[in-house]
Amino acid sequence: MLYIVATPIGNLGDITRRAIDVLASADIVAAEDTRRCRALLSHLGLSRPLLAYHDHSDDRRECELLAELQRGRSVALVADAGTPLISDPGFRLVRAARQAGVDVVCVPGPCAAIAALSIAGLPSDRFAFEGFLPARESARKARLEALSAEQRTLVFYESPRRVLALFEDLQAVFGSDRQAVLARELTKIHETLLSGSIAELRSRIAADPEQQLGEIVVLVHGAEEVPDRTAIDSDRLLRSLMPRLSLSEAVDCAVEISGLPRNALYRQALALRDVVEPH
Ligand code: SAM
Repeated sequence: MLYIVATPIGNLGDITRRAIDVLASADIVAAEDTRRCRALLSHLGLSRPLLAYHDHSDDRRECELLAELQRGRSVALVADAGTPLISDPGFRLVRAARQAGVDVVCVPGPCAAIAALSIAGLPSDRFAFEGFLPARESARKARLEALSAEQRTLVFYESPRRVLALFEDLQAVFGSDRQAVLARELTKIHETLLSGSIAELRSRIAADPEQQLGEIVVLVHGAEEVPDRTAIDSDRLLRSLMPRLSLSEAVDCAVEISGLPRNALYRQALALRDVVEPH
């Protein structure tokens, strides 16, 4: 089996009992940074054979892990922190394992995006996880432009070095007023959550260098729904057709123009007959 094991994003108390059991019994633990992984295992009192795995690992490493899985050995994939594959390596290995008929099993747990969303106070019924935006300003702005009409809450990961630049770009592209949240150092000693308009957060981050430290999730309220100006106003349509045509011709014409159901338009025309004189 290939186990995809989530690990804490700060507070080591967040490891699950099942994650510990799976790590304790895995034949191999695959991790991006084997040094960090060894530190976690030793905190748990475990010692397992480790292998480095990146999504850009050469095919040999992937084949090596697949061969071990196909020999019936179990592999646990962990990220440096949080859930593997979420802005972290693992996608290629999971795809290859599934294609090879290997069972892939999740051992769920912490994920910074979900942790931030759960406390942000922004709509959480629908959200779009965007991970890291491009580091180059022009590419970052282009991605934000493409997201400017998105109505779902937006969730970004951002490096502390670029968080102020991100808020400058958010203000330039989305305007000043949308609500946003900066969730920093979640589950750690300096856990901080700032919320306010994009403009307010930009000034607070600029004025307080501490807000530009640590690990950061940024959330932005989705765009407001824009009324559909192409929608046909059937009342107005009937009011303008009825004085010129017979009632049934006006309804036929309104059906043709609007594509709305004839029954509904006919009932509406009957109701209007008292106020608009048909032809
Ligand atoms: N796979 C991880 C997960 O499930 O959240 C994310 C890995 S990604 C390489 C690392 C980014 O996640 C950080 O740069 C930061 O944006 C976010 N992150 C990780 N831990 C965090 C924490 N404790 N507080 C806030 N953001 C965190």
